[in-house]
This record gives sequence, structure tokens and C-alpha cells, in this order.
Amino acid sequence: MTSPSSDDERKGLPSASNWRRYELCHGSFQLEQEAHRLDQVAHKATAEARSGERCHASMAGEAVELDETEKVSVGFMRERADDQLARIFGDTPVTELKEHRFWLQVGEKVAASGRVDRVVYAGRVALVQDYKFGFREPEPAEVNAQLKFLAVVVALALPQLSHVIVQVVSGPHGVSEARYDIKALQIAYSEIVDTLLAINDPNAGFNPGPAQCRFCPAQLICQPHRDATVAPMAKLQITQLPLESQRASKLLDEIQMLRRLCDQVEEFYSGKLLQDPDFSIPNYAMVPGAMKREVLDWDVARSRLAEYLDTDQIKGAANYRLGDLEKALSKTLKLKAKEAKERMNEILGGLIVEKQNAPSLKRLKNNSRSTALPGIAKLSRAEHSAG
Ligand code: SF4
Repeated sequence: MTSPSSDDERKGLPSASNWRRYELCHGSFQLEQEAHRLDQVAHKATAEARSGERCHASMAGEAVELDETEKVSVGFMRERADDQLARIFGDTPVTELKEHRFWLQVGEKVAASGRVDRVVYAGRVALVQDYKFGFREPEPAEVNAQLKFLAVVVALALPQLSHVIVQVVSGPHGVSEARYDIKALQIAYSEIVDTLLAINDPNAGFNPGPAQCRFCPAQLICQPHRDATVAPMAKLQITQLPLESQRASKLLDEIQMLRRLCDQVEEFYSGKLLQDPDFSIPNYAMVPGAMKREVLDWDVARSRLAEYLDTDQIKGAANYRLGDLEKALSKTLKLKAKEAKERMNEILGGLIVEKQNAPSLKRLKNNSRSTALPGIAKLSRAEHSAG
């Protein structure tokens, strides 16, 4: 996933984080540039991506504001990553770089780049760690094209190295590791140069598929993607769903790709409505997100709640959700739901902040009114719930 800032930082050149997509669909690099030129970029900045960026910045030592879940993820990630460092280098003094971009030069030209979350090196060995936040299962290091690229650029930048160890470090999915010696680095370099030649070829071909199209920025303007998704769906007869396993698998792949395309079309228009006050769409508007309450300091909150709830009730509330705790409070103090909420606000006074979820695109019921709504600003909460 990309963000506008990372796009600038890459100077329009191919980047390691997209390497698997480039390998699978050579045409995607040039079409990605076209999507930027047309300002029709898919997968611009999801909430998940923004949260990942905050967590990465915090791992690099930047002062960023994290929510409670992000704080837990970052703390856990730091511990897990440092364990690996200790396992590999022990007490040996090391040099460390964080969030560092390495550039790949082929011949006279700078051809691509990759940013490492962390590289640590001592003597002839380097460890490259890539942090994966969130619950999506990452590609293991052994087959991870991004890490293959990073191993090569790190080795080129630090010629004293004879081994580069690469790791994908994730909270829910553990650590996977691959080791590159000089021979493996040479093979990887040659594969990378082949991919660079293929993606810069003016006749680079397209190869739609769930893995490569999933986060492709060119998805909104890609005809081969449409041909592989919309066209088969239009021909689909619901009474004739295939039962043969390969065809069923292909159909499910097409559905996945089509669903993501639909999501991206909605995201595109959501972005337009939010950013351009003169842009409007009949019957559609951005509606405010629901308000949610967050607890600023769970240690203090737990000690205050302990006066009213026993430890099991506090622990039993999955992820300490306020709604679950209110139910427990309502049961113990025999209060109605509304009263329990007020009581909870009193008990946790000064510890709760209200945050609003992101606005979302909705079809409105009242056509005549909705045409007059250019965006979120004029939409009342009553209309939100009606929509
Ligand atoms: S959407 Fe899919 S087929 Fe189209 S350029 Fe991207 S990866 Fe290739």
C-alpha cells in the first residue's frame, strides 16, 4: 500500500514494497504512473495503512500519537524484533539504521529503491527486519520479493557483508526468516534486473490475478483487470455455477477481484466528495461516522472500576470494550442501559475521550434533498441514521 508521501519519496521509480506485483504483472508499473497522472489512484490511504504508518513511525522513534491498540502492537513488535536481534548478534556491538531508503543503481542509472524498517549489521552479517502490523498474513520471508530486493540493496550498499538475513516480523503471525549468502544475492540481483527490464519495456504485458491486483494503484483504470472480472461476471448464469473445482476457484478469484474493484470505486468517489466542495453526486453523500469512546489510561480505569466490578467481570469484557463493561456494571448495580452508561462516564470521568469514526459514502433515501448535499458538512445526524 502506498501513501502520497511515499510516492514522492520514491521519485517515480519502482519500489521494493511492490516488487511481487511487478514480478507477476509487468505492465502494472507503467499503468501505475498513468493512474497518478490521471489522479485516479486506487488504494490511496486506507485507515489500516494510516495506522500502519503511525506504528512504523513509532518503531523508528518518532513522536506520534497512537491509540491503545496501536500502543500494544508497537510494544509487542519492539520486543519481538529485539529478541531476534539478541538471538543473531548476542552482545556484539552493532550499527543500526531505521526507516532508511536504499537506492539500486543499474549501470549509470538509479533504477529503483526500497526502504527498510530496520537494518542492523556487524562484521559480515546484516539483519533486515520488516514489520508487518495488522492481522493479514504476510508473505513469508523465504518467498518475499520485497525482502529479496532489500537484501540485495543492503548488500550493495555495505560491500563488507557476506550474509544478509531477512525477517518478516509480525504480531499475530510470528517471525519468518530467509538467509542470503553471496551466491543467493547474485541470483536475486539477476532476477531483479530481469524484472526491471520487463516492467520498463514499452510493451510490458498485463497479468490480472488476485495477488497482484489486490493493492494495485492502477486498478481503477486497468482494462485487463476489467476484462478478467466484470466481463465474466456479466456472462455468469446463476443457475449454472460451476461445480468443477478449478472453475469454481477461478470464479471465486474473479469475485474477489471484482469486489475490491467496487470498493476502490467507492473509495475514489468518497475521496472526491471529501476533498472537493464543488463536487456532488445525486443521491449520494458522505455521512459522519459514529462516535466512539476511548479510554485514555486503562490502568487507572481498571483501578476505579475495581470498586464496582470484580476482576473476572473486568477481564471478561472482551478487549476491555466499554460496552461490555457497561453491561457488567448494569447487572451488578441493577441499572438500565442508559443509566449504566451515565454511571460509567461518571466513574471514568476525565479518562474517556470521544472520537468519531471516519465518514462513509451512503446512498440517501430522499432524492430531492440529497442532490443538494455537496458533502459531509451539510448532513445532519438524523439524515445519517435515515440513510
Ligand atoms: S490491476 Fe492487476 S492487471 Fe491491472 S495493472 Fe494492476 S496488477 Fe496488472
